[in-house]
Amino acid sequence: MVLEKPKQLLVLKEMAMPSPLPHQVLIKIIACGVCRTDLHIIDGELTNPKLPLIPGHEIVGIVAKTGNKVEKLREGDLVGVPWLGYTCGVCKYCRNGNENLCDNAGFTGYTIDGGYAEYTVANEQYCFPLSKQYGNAAGAPLLCAGLIGFRSYSMIGPHAINIGIYGFGAAAHILTQLAIGQGRKIFAFTRDQDTEAQLFAKQLGAAWVGNASQPSPQKLDAAIIFAPVGSLLPKALQDVDKGGIVVCGGIHMSDIPSFPYHLLWEERKICSVANLTRKDGETFFKLISEIPVNTTIKTYPLYQANEALNDLRHGNIQGAAVLVTG
Ligand SMILES: [Zn+2]
Ligand SMILES: [Zn+2]
Repeated sequence: MVLEKPKQLLVLKEMAMPSPLPHQVLIKIIACGVCRTDLHIIDGELTNPKLPLIPGHEIVGIVAKTGNKVEKLREGDLVGVPWLGYTCGVCKYCRNGNENLCDNAGFTGYTIDGGYAEYTVANEQYCFPLSKQYGNAAGAPLLCAGLIGFRSYSMIGPHAINIGIYGFGAAAHILTQLAIGQGRKIFAFTRDQDTEAQLFAKQLGAAWVGNASQPSPQKLDAAIIFAPVGSLLPKALQDVDKGGIVVCGGIHMSDIPSFPYHLLWEERKICSVANLTRKDGETFFKLISEIPVNTTIKTYPLYQANEALNDLRHGNIQGAAVLVTG
């Protein structure tokens, strides 16, 4: 499914089988998650995608062929391919352990063709080996919703117990399970009157659920915003306690309205999360081998990518949308 031009529907196309470069593997795709970032790319809010582009950066598949310099992966291995598809290794960010900020990074499904397809190629060093348990459609959302949720969660520090999550979609439903597994409490804020999402959060063990416009029932140690809604930032600041942090987990957000300084005062912090590092992936996949997470998904055949994107756009999906091939 190909994006030929932003702001247009994806087009179903027959394309030549990609061939792996020396450090790449050819992957037969089992499933690929549909992420809000795909919408931002298709809608032209993220500028300069590769065009034409095969979107998709939550890929689960099997290695079908290895390039001649591939060292670790073998044919038949189960792998996941995330958003981070390449880093240069030499810029100051790469050298300082912040490869997520690499000046020359390549991103799967944005500047590199991604997973809305039957086959793709990926650089070996950026594929994560997956355990069998996650080698299916349900594993796909882990590759972005899971990873970005985890990186956002890492920003709040080990002492935050009461955590607000604003926007209860794919990332939130994975993170909630992980956080509760680590003894934390989740306060889930959804779109106002979205009773389905509130019930979903409750079923996953949230300590409290409510409308995003409602004040938190108690002061929070940290807040993570997954909804792309800038006005949630001052609201979340209002809900967090002294010294608390508000983490924006999305790649794009509507403008943030101005707000009085006292909301930020008392050493509250605001930060954003950009991309992921391979270290995040290693840590995350190790953690979910100890605290298993179940993803709630809605699957679509690959050729219905436009329908899946549309459902995501309108909030008609509980958990995550996933495209399945074959
Ligand atoms: Zn770099
Ligand atoms: Zn994503």
